Amino acid sequence: MSRHRFEAYLDKVFGFSRLVGALPEGRQSPTHRWQKVFDAVFLAAAMQVPSLLQIEAECRRGALAKRIGPISDDTIGYALQRQSPEHVFALGCEIARRLKCNEILRSDWSRGLIVAAVDGIEICSPFARCCDACMQREVQHRVRGEMRTDIQYYHRIVAVVTVSTTFPVPLGIRFQKDGEAEVPCALALLQDLVGHLGRGFLDLLVGDALYLQAPFVKEVERLGLDWAFTLKENQPDLLREADIPPSIKARPWSC
Ligand SMILES: [Zn+2]
Repeated sequence: MSRHRFEAYLDKVFGFSRLVGALPEGRQSPTHRWQKVFDAVFLAAAMQVPSLLQIEAECRRGALAKRIGPISDDTIGYALQRQSPEHVFALGCEIARRLKCNEILRSDWSRGLIVAAVDGIEICSPFARCCDACMQREVQHRVRGEMRTDIQYYHRIVAVVTVSTTFPVPLGIRFQKDGEAEVPCALALLQDLVGHLGRGFLDLLVGDALYLQAPFVKEVERLGLDWAFTLKENQPDLLREADIPPSIKARPWSC
């Protein structure tokens, strides 16, 4: 699918340009509109361009030169830092609603249930602070043959991703705050998702044994979800072989 057809498809199915155009601007009098910055990052991500510097290169003289045009990595970074994550999260939820209404999120093996996995991962760990929200720890490592102890900075995110789909569809991510453990971060993410998508959007939540804690389980049940917390989303075969009890039924939810 060419990029042009890709965007035409997004507009036809999701009204994507309209959703992006409705995102509020976080800067005063910007030279490049937020929609242009968003499109540059979104299309580059779809092309698996791995860094802001390479997005700048693609926009200047590469595959995005005609569609986006010149824009610097500094401008992209500055704009992203001032954008409200809540509105982008809400946009993702709009997409998820459409996917559910179009029957994309369920499969035969899940008996029509929408099953999502929750898990946390570390996404970067530089030795130079990258932002005010960096978490930090002391690590021993070898530098030019010598062991030394340094402060390492890192970020962790928790993601909720559908696993009852042909391919995993991320429903939402949340950055762990400094001092915040993975399970409370996951709970906050699930509360945000249920707040945006409504009760009944998901039927069953799976996760590893870390989540098998009474307070978390209680909160998940309060959100109206069934759960199975020993399976991992990176073990799809195991997940398929697991018997989903017949008592678990798809929740009422209207498009
Ligand atoms: Zn950082």
